[in-house]
Amino acid sequence: MREILIVGAGQAGLHLALGLLHHGYGVTVISNRTPEAIRDGRVTSSQAMFGTALGHERDLGIDLWPDCPPIDGIQLSVPGPDGTKAIGWTGRLDEPARSVDQRVKMPAWLAEVERLGGKVVYHDATAADLETYAADYDLVLVAAGKGQIASLFERDAGRSPYDVPQRALALTYVNGLTPRPEHSAVCFNLIPGVGEYFVFPALTLTGPCEIMVFEGVPGGPMDCWGDVRTPAEHLARSRSILETYLPWEAARCADIELTDERGTLAGRFAPTVRRPVAVLPTGAPVLGVADVVVLNDPITGQGAGNAAKCAASYLADIVERGDLPFDQAWMEATFERYWADARHATEWTNALLSPPPPHVLEILGAAGSLPEVAARFANGFDDPRDFAEWFMDPAKAAAYLAQAGSRS
Ligand SMILES: Cc1cc2nc3c(=O)[nH]c(=O)nc-3n(C[C@H](O)[C@H](O)[C@H](O)COP(=O)(O)OP(=O)(O)OC[C@H]3O[C@@H](n4cnc5c(N)ncnc54)[C@H](O)[C@@H]3O)c2cc1C
Repeated sequence: MREILIVGAGQAGLHLALGLLHHGYGVTVISNRTPEAIRDGRVTSSQAMFGTALGHERDLGIDLWPDCPPIDGIQLSVPGPDGTKAIGWTGRLDEPARSVDQRVKMPAWLAEVERLGGKVVYHDATAADLETYAADYDLVLVAAGKGQIASLFERDAGRSPYDVPQRALALTYVNGLTPRPEHSAVCFNLIPGVGEYFVFPALTLTGPCEIMVFEGVPGGPMDCWGDVRTPAEHLARSRSILETYLPWEAARCADIELTDERGTLAGRFAPTVRRPVAVLPTGAPVLGVADVVVLNDPITGQGAGNAAKCAASYLADIVERGDLPFDQAWMEATFERYWADARHATEWTNALLSPPPPHVLEILGAAGSLPEVAARFANGFDDPRDFAEWFMDPAKAAAYLAQAGSRS
């Protein structure tokens, strides 16, 4: 039996571990957090995942949360200079998205790894440990997310336009938020020059909830979490941002309360693509997975979905490799196959971090009167490869808008 070791028990590491166990591999997972520490810890993400990524989980039978509320569309709103809504429309998703709190999901998946015969070791893996693992296992995968160990993988400057954080991030998990009247959606609010706010239904430790996500332009008025000391202050700051910039969202928040005392987060990081293989001092290569190698800003909600897509892509390549060695050339090729799709999420996400160019403003305006355009935008969250065919290119966008207009 081929033996594979995975550092990191998150969205990608556990998905891959479970996939490998289904295919008969020996699997060891190194996790620096116990299930109890994850469950009792702070929220880590808003983790909305779209149809294709959820399909990869379904294929392995690891979609264990049928009571997770569906997210049926994307609503986009932009306030005008007078504070009223200048743009507002909704596109339906072909398949619902869902968000299961990682504090719920990862402990259940850790138990599932052990139930299927995998081994879990609770330890904060170091660079020196990787040498030992590489000597003892056929393949070592590093799926440690934003963990310090990711810095063993060299930043790929050609694929990383930013070297500093582009947004000040904050999460607020709440109950009592007024639902949208028609159907559920990611309500995506774009406040020019200030940042973005999105909110959507999810499943957390206490049951269904809503997750509020704030993305403030650094140094701007929504980069405002540094002096917040308590969960109650965090909730109050969340409300006050909405009261100032998004009155229609503030109106939904009259009765909100935190889901739990650990349902808040504030932080920032630089979006970074890294070289996929770290070669250890002894010459052994180890392969990076998901956020370790492709870390996007959460503005487009792609990271957890990418982690599932990366796990599915690597799993297929590992199985296809049969008994041949997992050498550096194979690792590079395995990553490039994933990157061929993942780059579209990265490029689109990086584009949304800059002020919108004229053709994007035109798209966002046109989608209000052309439901086809709104639906195409919404479904791009599931498969961002489609954005290369219109959204990312002024000429293609103009041609598509003209066609969509003539069909309406
Ligand atoms: C504020 C915010 C909002 C987000 N919202 C969304 C969203 O709505 N939709 C979406 O798709 N994505 C979202 N993301 C991104 C998403 O959460 C991540 O991209 C995804 O979790 C990455 O999966 P991963 O397996 O690569 O890493 P992780 O899920 O971070 O897992 C890494 C694991 O490795 C462990 N670890 C780290 N170092 C070590 C070590 N040395 N030894 C052992 N274990 C180690 C960590 O404790 C962790 O358990 C968001 C992120 C943030 C910060």
